[in-house]
Amino acid sequence: MFAVKEGKVIYKLHKHIERNSKINKKKKENYLKKNGKLDCEVCGFDFYEKYGEIGMGFMECHHRIPLHEIKEESVTFLKDLSLVCANCHRMLHRDLDTLSIEELKNKIKNSQ
Ligand SMILES: [Zn+2]
Ligand SMILES: [Zn+2]
Repeated sequence: MFAVKEGKVIYKLHKHIERNSKINKKKKENYLKKNGKLDCEVCGFDFYEKYGEIGMGFMECHHRIPLHEIKEESVTFLKDLSLVCANCHRMLHRDLDTLSIEELKNKIKNSQ
C-alpha cells in the first residue's frame, strides 16, 4: 500500500509580490461588457455555463508578464492581463518558463 506522510507545516521564505485585485475585477468587468460572457481566452471554458450561479463572475487573471520577472514595483495595465480558466492557468505555469496564451492555444490545437 502506497502512503505518504502529509500535514507537516513548513515555513518557506518567499518573495511576496503584491497583486492588485482591483485590476482583476476591472478586467473581468470590461471583458464581460465586451463579450457578453466570461470565457477562458485559451479554451473558451465558461464557469457560469458549466456550474451555474456559483460560477458566475469566476475567472482567473493571468499576468502576461510574469510578476516575478518584474524587478521593481510597476504599473499593470488591463492589456497586461488575460482571463483564463483554472485548468489553462495551471498549464500556463506548468513549466518554469510561463507559456504565452498563444503557445497554449497551439498546444491544444495540436493535441486534438
Ligand atoms: Zn481554459
Ligand atoms: Zn498566471
